[in-house]
Amino acid sequence: MRELDLLSHIYRSNAGLPAGVTIPPGDDMGAVTLAGANMLVTVDQVADGVHVDLANTPIEKVGRKAITRNLSDVAAMAAKPVGAVAAACLPKGFGEERAQVLFDAMRSTAEYFGCPLIGGDISAWDQRLILTVTVFAEPAGIDPVLRSGAQVGDVVYVTGALGGSLVTLQDPPGYIHHLDFTPRLDLARTLAGNPATRPHGMIDLSDGLASDLTRLCEQSGACARIDASRLPISAAAGLASIQSGHPAWRHAIGDGEDYELCFAAHGEIPGEVDGVEITPIGEIVQRGSGDQSQGKVTMRLPDGSLLDVAGLGWEHSG
Ligand SMILES: [Mg+2]
Repeated sequence: MRELDLLSHIYRSNAGLPAGVTIPPGDDMGAVTLAGANMLVTVDQVADGVHVDLANTPIEKVGRKAITRNLSDVAAMAAKPVGAVAAACLPKGFGEERAQVLFDAMRSTAEYFGCPLIGGDISAWDQRLILTVTVFAEPAGIDPVLRSGAQVGDVVYVTGALGGSLVTLQDPPGYIHHLDFTPRLDLARTLAGNPATRPHGMIDLSDGLASDLTRLCEQSGACARIDASRLPISAAAGLASIQSGHPAWRHAIGDGEDYELCFAAHGEIPGEVDGVEITPIGEIVQRGSGDQSQGKVTMRLPDGSLLDVAGLGWEHSG
């Protein structure tokens, strides 16, 4: 089953939620009212064989990613992380020393980003490693940015560079983006905290721009038109392109696990915040005009032709 289909089935089944649910399913985090304040929450998994390959990955990087994946969702809401809980299914025979390295990496990563691990659960089973992490966050003076706020006429931006997240780089040595990325927490709050630059709608790029911009558009009841020649293509995407024979733009929109931000805004967006580049790649356009249906993302290719990018992203559920 397609992950998008399964998620939309879940969202449809969630009609009639109580008033205490302030952000319903369908965004990067949900939120409930707790003691009169908004508390945001997200949960994500790192599964051996799906999100990491344990046989070829240092265990501390696996622990780091289990935390940073969640923090990328916190960044997508422009929220401030406050704490995390984790559950681990360890393969039998995993080894105590290895488990300690894993949990030390999770704890130190969480603390580094101001999100202390405050509890968890461990079980052993005869399958591969699964780590499940839940992160709590607060608005801390900045209203969360939802996926649903993109408006026709907004410019679409992405942070950083896209594609090739599985490629091992020489510079910095051994850098592999999907393991070593920095969640864009500070950048998101810098933009969202200033009325002149606050994004109208935002999402983090976990499944690739093709899938994730489609989600932003669906939630906003709009469409998008982007331009392949404007995409910030990573050096890693260039290397992936040489290996695969596919054009680099194909890697930039479809590889997934960029953990950059994609947002729609109408303000004076700077070209860089805290050393991270921000690139305009297209615009939000009307739904229902011509052949545009809701959520449709169209990309102009280098040869001038138009491509419907639906289905070019990465599917976790296969
Ligand atoms: Mg997300």
